[in-house]
Amino acid sequence: MTVIRASELSEFGYCQKKWFLNRTTPKDSAFTSSHLLKGQQVHDELDRQFMAKVTTSIRFQTFMEATRRVVMRPDASDAVFRTQVGEVLLIGKPDELWSDSTGIYVVEDKPHFSAWEGYRLQVMAYAFIIFRENQRKLGLLGKKVFGLLRNRDTGEIFWRRPYTKEIDRVIEGKLLAMHKCLTVRDLTEKVTNKRKCAGCRFEQKCWGNVQR
Ligand code: SF4
Repeated sequence: MTVIRASELSEFGYCQKKWFLNRTTPKDSAFTSSHLLKGQQVHDELDRQFMAKVTTSIRFQTFMEATRRVVMRPDASDAVFRTQVGEVLLIGKPDELWSDSTGIYVVEDKPHFSAWEGYRLQVMAYAFIIFRENQRKLGLLGKKVFGLLRNRDTGEIFWRRPYTKEIDRVIEGKLLAMHKCLTVRDLTEKVTNKRKCAGCRFEQKCWGNVQR
């Protein structure tokens, strides 16, 4: 079984080879010390603010049934999200979930205002888990699943889409492609944007660097 975190789809959407090399190369402290630590600090602060406001935890099944707006931060609870697709176990915890009479809203905080492909894939991978694991109940409740991207500094929602069958097929296809990358080293997708390779952690060792 190959375990893939929903957050990995963000990097896979940016560059297949970068995702593969990150997954198979030990991380150095210089890489983990800057933007990842800043992101973690912001995330921890948002969790702290949320926990200061909320006095009771809620089970996910009860959360799904809510008819008035309820907010859940999975990292601040014991909720675990996972679903299996063939040989892949997809796991992940979105930054925040909302539930109301019309749907379940998956909210992912990002440091930008651009809905890049990787960001869209990541938030829809969480939606994929929730949809696949609760399809029947969602149908009974008459609720749809939505993916939302929010700027982590201003709180502004800058991208929002309903989860659809087409998106379901895209996410499943990406998961199977990631599995193929890991099992048979199928890494043929090419980067065309030179700016992606400029300053990339792997620019020296990557065979797909388009700057050369
Ligand atoms: S050098 Fe370019 S192709 Fe290679 S991993 Fe980095 S971004 Fe991807």
